[in-house]
Amino acid sequence: MKKVRHILGLSGGKDSAALAVYLHDKIPEMEYFFTDTHKEIPETYDFLDKLKARLGIRIEYLSADKGFDHFLELNNGFLPSAQQRWCTVQLKLKPLEEFIGSDEAISYVAIRADENRSGYMPTRPNIQSVFPFMEDGIDLAGVHKILEDAGLGLPAYYNWRSRSGCYFCFFQRKIEWVGLHENHPDLFEQAAEYESAHSDGRVYTWNEGETLREIIARKEEIKREYALRKERELATRSNKSLSDVFDDDEDACTVCAL
Ligand code: SF4
Repeated sequence: MKKVRHILGLSGGKDSAALAVYLHDKIPEMEYFFTDTHKEIPETYDFLDKLKARLGIRIEYLSADKGFDHFLELNNGFLPSAQQRWCTVQLKLKPLEEFIGSDEAISYVAIRADENRSGYMPTRPNIQSVFPFMEDGIDLAGVHKILEDAGLGLPAYYNWRSRSGCYFCFFQRKIEWVGLHENHPDLFEQAAEYESAHSDGRVYTWNEGETLREIIARKEEIKREYALRKERELATRSNKSLSDVFDDDEDACTVCAL
């Protein structure tokens, strides 16, 4: 009988890393993988390296045959968006389904007990998803504890960005674009270039109604608004830390950023 594969997708984010720590001893045959869009922020690779060293695991780095720019061209220059997520399909889901092929597999998904989202549901019947954190009641505080106890802590991007994923991900909030501009000006420039690099003069924006350069032109205002919002949220949720408030973003990509 063919063996069932046990797989865990790492995003470079805290939840999937915590799940890897949590299951490492329980499922020794686990296959860890990371689907690389080649548009990730550098801190993601650093955090994966740290995890690899800490657990002594091997991570399979998967990639699509063709890169983002190829699919952008196929989409006639239309940038992906929450409504048109061809990036996730082409750069994340297809390489994953190829990696599994026709094998029977159990995919361990890091959705937490305090989250209200469903995550990626494989379209293939040979892949079954399970949610250990939901089953075992592990919430955000539990994830932080797992990472602290393992000596890993949070990914380094966490003080300016709430999720892993592509540097130009359209799920970013404006304050995170400001963070990209301050922490990786070169990547910000490349993201801005994607908005305007059309020979016929078309301009697409990662954010609805505002270009990245317009966002940066009013970055002090965005920072002030964000500080005020955070202050208000912290005042009404006194048992939450700053990073918990930053984490309360249910709009992000559940395939790329768990
Ligand atoms: S991280 Fe964002 S931009 Fe990158 S593949 Fe996922 S949804 Fe698309």
